[in-house]
Amino acid sequence: MLAIAAFRGSSEPQLIEAPPPPALGPGEVLCATLELGVCGTDREILHSAAPWTPEGEDRLILGHECLARVAAVGADVSDYRTGDLVVPVVRRAFPGQTRRADLLPFGPFTERGIYREHGFSPPQWLDRPEHLFRVPAEIADVAVLTEPLAVSEKGVNEALLLSRARLGAAAWTSTAPPRVLVTGMGPIGFTAVLAAVARGWPVTMLGRDEPGSFRASLVERFGGRYQPMQQTTFEPANIERDGYDLCLECTGSDDVMLQAAGLIRSCGVIVWLGSMRVPQPGTHNVQRLMRDGLVRNHLHIGCVNAAPRDFADALAHLGQLKRTQAAELSALITARVRPEKSLWHYTHREPQGIKTVLMYD
Ligand code: BGC
Repeated sequence: MLAIAAFRGSSEPQLIEAPPPPALGPGEVLCATLELGVCGTDREILHSAAPWTPEGEDRLILGHECLARVAAVGADVSDYRTGDLVVPVVRRAFPGQTRRADLLPFGPFTERGIYREHGFSPPQWLDRPEHLFRVPAEIADVAVLTEPLAVSEKGVNEALLLSRARLGAAAWTSTAPPRVLVTGMGPIGFTAVLAAVARGWPVTMLGRDEPGSFRASLVERFGGRYQPMQQTTFEPANIERDGYDLCLECTGSDDVMLQAAGLIRSCGVIVWLGSMRVPQPGTHNVQRLMRDGLVRNHLHIGCVNAAPRDFADALAHLGQLKRTQAAELSALITARVRPEKSLWHYTHREPQGIKTVLMYD
């Protein structure tokens, strides 16, 4: 079975011969990968040359954004049947953990394809029903976007929950929607736009591309606004009028985060969805961030992974957008490649690329 792996001491992905999954046991589901997304986390794992491998192994089998088909079910599985389409979750808490898995401290869990457990790039793998979400057939062609969309949905849901706790239930409703700023034009930036658009919230994407380029135009086709990063300053006096309520920061750049935080009006929320795996020290006026944050009652939220709530929202929003913006949704998948031809995409990005998807048989 062919799979894509990251090895300790190497930055190059490798096609490997992976062992077939063990025999299907009671309570287990055998899944066959149909489509697999390549994401910034895969590239960072490789770039680090230090993947978090399963105990005692020197390699990590990659793949965490997956659409699969149920190939067989073990005894005692009643929720799924052969042929069902599913999306697996990434993080799995160790037994005995009671907190929501996506809110655990770093450690008592595995993440398939990322942290100490192999991922979904082999053509077949075993899982348990509680880690799977059923995918309606109508969204099969875009369901590989569920996991990265769930990550942005978590950012929005956490910000919404906290804002309503602070400002009351009337805050951030359809009659008083938050003004959303998304920083970054990668796949998470785009899923952040989807999470806003699906809720009917006005959204602006801040990026480095030329206006009119493919990605900048795609934001507008989704009903958002595109704003080149170099042209963002408005009069500080007007921030309460022109500023934003929610920033979904998807670049992991301190420069960008500081610039964006300066555009957030009072009681706004800045959600950190991107980060560098190996942070580099820099010199920045963090006091500015603290001053603005203090006088404007800003809330900064670190945000990783996704809760079941967020997967459910991602699936519902893909269904909703599929009915109204099918062409735009499929335009997010900018490259479709065979697994054996995919390695270049794990170490490179196409200039206007958004999401590369590996297509299985
Ligand atoms: C995945 C998350 C995961 C995070 C950190 C992201 O790429 O989408 O599910 O928790 O990486 O490992």
